[in-house]
Amino acid sequence: MRALVVRAVDAPLRVEEIELPAPGPDEVRVSVRAAGVCHSDLSMVNGTLGPPYPLVLGHEAAGVVLEVGHAVTRVAPGAHVVLNWAPPCRDCWYCGRGEPWLCERTGSPSAPRGRTPTGEPLHVTLGLGALAEQVVVPQEAVIGVPAELPFEAAALLGCAVLTGVGAVRRTAKVAPGESVAVIGLGGVGLSVVSAARAAGADPVLAVDISPAKAALAATAGATDFLLADETLNRAVRERTGGRGVDHALECVGRATTIRAAWRATRRGGQVTVVGMGARDDIVGLAALDIFHSARTLRSSVYGSSDPDRDVPELARAVLDGTLDLAHLITDRTTLDGAPEAFARMARGEGARTVVLP
Ligand SMILES: [Zn+2]
Ligand SMILES: [Zn+2]
Repeated sequence: MRALVVRAVDAPLRVEEIELPAPGPDEVRVSVRAAGVCHSDLSMVNGTLGPPYPLVLGHEAAGVVLEVGHAVTRVAPGAHVVLNWAPPCRDCWYCGRGEPWLCERTGSPSAPRGRTPTGEPLHVTLGLGALAEQVVVPQEAVIGVPAELPFEAAALLGCAVLTGVGAVRRTAKVAPGESVAVIGLGGVGLSVVSAARAAGADPVLAVDISPAKAALAATAGATDFLLADETLNRAVRERTGGRGVDHALECVGRATTIRAAWRATRRGGQVTVVGMGARDDIVGLAALDIFHSARTLRSSVYGSSDPDRDVPELARAVLDGTLDLAHLITDRTTLDGAPEAFARMARGEGARTVVLP
């Protein structure tokens, strides 16, 4: 089978022939039908994260179960599933207190799985390696969804949408009438914009460095599009009675944009960091500013979601028309077109590219 493989930091991405093991007793083999190209995959390539190589990319995907191990009870062959890159153990202290997104046994950026035809061991991104024709994963890493849910939409539920919707509803708990700024309009940021509108936020200020994102922001439901430059602070205050927003959601994962989110927020407001940043990118905040602004700064890991509960709920919302994901998908391609999709994402173009292996 074929998969998208990276062999070193910033090395060219190549579609390679790989070999996956047969599913173990608790594992399933899934034929990947759609896989999103997510910014966290780029972080595996450009040195932001330091995973072992060679590495199969991809962690946002949906497909059909082909084969199951003898102890598998969650799904049967033929089931349509969304892949979950952080399956909780249901046993640790965090899982026990209802915070499975902080599960002690998840969070590793990669796992060893499979080999090249010459016997070289491979790793897979976030335990999945979903930019591939197939994956072999533990049964906990698949979530059954209705067969009538389109694969493209199902794939996005596994990362961008679960993260974006969860950040608004579960982490920030945005209330009707509150003002929101969303910084960084990739797949997750646009998902945050539409979730904020759906939650009744007004205004929803969509912020990006690229003016080309204005149209995408409007389609996602933003009331205003603002450029992330030295005019941002004033533009935000002009639209929020001079105070700043109730909620700023940072969807980039960089110190400069976290600081921009901090400054865009009113006294007593809330800053939620959704983007995953680098270990050595330090956010500087003045001690007096932290005290005087009375702001809350926190992160949203996987949208503070329980994927087993929330993915089926989001799937129902897509099917009944209350959650529209069409605006998130700006490109479709094959596995061979995936390297170009990474290049577009690195240039900040478009929203999600969905790969149809
Ligand atoms: Zn992702
Ligand atoms: Zn756990």
